[in-house]
Amino acid sequence: MIKRLTFAFVFILLPSIIFTGCDQLGHNNSPGKPKLVIGIVVDQMRYDYLTRYINKYGKGGFKRLLKEGFSCRDAEYNYVPTYTAPGHTSIYTGTTPSVHGMIANEWFDRKLNRMSYCVEDTATKTVGSTSNEGAMSPRKELTSTIGDQLKLSDNGMSKVIGISQKDRASILPAGHSANAAYWLDGLSGNWITSTYYMKELPAWVKSFNAEGRAQKYLSQPWTTLLPIEEYTESMKDDNPYEGLYKGEKSPVFPHDLPALMGQNGGCELIKTTPFGDDITTDFAIETIKNEKMGKGSVTDMLTISYSSTDYIGHMYGTLAIETEDTYLRLDRDLSRLLLFLDDYLGKDNVLIFLTADHGAALNPQYLEDQNIPAGYADNWQIVSRIKQYLIQKYGSELLLEFTNQQCYFDRKKIAEKGINMDTLEKEVALVAAKCDGVERAIPAYLIDDCGNDFIAKKIRNGYYPGRSGDVIINLLPQYIIYGKTGTTHGAPYIYDAHVPMIFYGGMVKSGASDEEEPITNIAPTVADLMHVSYPDGCTGHPVKLIK
Ligand SMILES: [Zn+2]
Repeated sequence: MIKRLTFAFVFILLPSIIFTGCDQLGHNNSPGKPKLVIGIVVDQMRYDYLTRYINKYGKGGFKRLLKEGFSCRDAEYNYVPTYTAPGHTSIYTGTTPSVHGMIANEWFDRKLNRMSYCVEDTATKTVGSTSNEGAMSPRKELTSTIGDQLKLSDNGMSKVIGISQKDRASILPAGHSANAAYWLDGLSGNWITSTYYMKELPAWVKSFNAEGRAQKYLSQPWTTLLPIEEYTESMKDDNPYEGLYKGEKSPVFPHDLPALMGQNGGCELIKTTPFGDDITTDFAIETIKNEKMGKGSVTDMLTISYSSTDYIGHMYGTLAIETEDTYLRLDRDLSRLLLFLDDYLGKDNVLIFLTADHGAALNPQYLEDQNIPAGYADNWQIVSRIKQYLIQKYGSELLLEFTNQQCYFDRKKIAEKGINMDTLEKEVALVAAKCDGVERAIPAYLIDDCGNDFIAKKIRNGYYPGRSGDVIINLLPQYIIYGKTGTTHGAPYIYDAHVPMIFYGGMVKSGASDEEEPITNIAPTVADLMHVSYPDGCTGHPVKLIK
């Protein structure tokens, strides 16, 4: 009996502990730690970009991550608005804006009495350029990230670095105690940072910048990677639903980038081309090599966010050849990064996760033309009707700002006039709810008692007292406040909320799951695999990475 039990332990139970790496609680207590963790966020990547373009992807990028990694096929954002800053923060803090405070990319700051950007920090200065684009920090992010927890776990020995063309997509994932966060300065085409992290760029970053790589990428036209007739997943190249670069007459290939640079902000243009993702990959690889990430005795972490996908999505929409081409090129970038890591550290020593900060709506005009319900809400109509009502009823506008589909009222004036704030919120919500394209409007005083359907829950998870507005408006499905070309995001609906969630590396078994996974589950999953504590405000739970 003893022998049989021993046999059972060694040959049946022990392997299951080692290979599934899970204890009875379902936590991923794998025996080793990864040497290097890489978080990849693809800005504006809808889940269906994985499947829509699958036959055009090569073997080494998305397909490799899906084949060798673990894909959570039902990963979803559990709050609104689905914007970039809240998305990146929620991924890395494991919680929602109601806890981490990143309610939008910018919001009305009641103390400053003006709009305020999510990472602006006047106490800092740019490092690496004469522009003001580096005066940034993560100080408004109110909870720790997984990178912070990693640094806390080993007295700061781990290196944590963020990279993205966008400042907020570099700073917020890397967290408060990061060694560095770098983003691309449109003026110079250089990778820059903030005095929050350092006084001077490292020599290797200066050398990289001195190469003028952004200028080189922009010295040739953007042509399609494959013959253009093979882009059968997308609409025809010339169509009325796509935006234009300044100076172009129609949205068609080839895009003459050298000729367009002058009218489109110089090197800033690279952000709205797939070459912005190429240079991000170049810089990520150089960062790993020069900082010797993963080569020390502790785990290091690099956060990469690909932004060109978002700029191009906004300009061309979800069904454009430009968008498809951008993903095919990103697929090559991922392949290049994975091959580099094979050689540099070996797959067994890395842990990678890939997700997105939000999806995107289809172009509503295109949907309308297909007789599918969609449309445009009118910012001007909403604001003017609210102001009109307030002037009629109270003799004053009382509206300081309308942003992110939220009203910010003049609380001082309201108090002076002796107006009941709850009554006013309720009245304005009723006015807003009658505007074109509005699904509902919720007075902030009722936020805890505004229903339990998925939209009400997401609104609650996105609300942070002191930062959020006084009336919150939600639009109908596929309604946006935006121009007629291209698209945007921010809604609670599935097209903005459903994103890829893939884990890959030596500690991860290949497989897939159709369990519903809120985006807040990424941080505790990665924290578990790194053997560090969950971030301070974490409300998510680790994903069971078992087939
Ligand atoms: Zn975004």
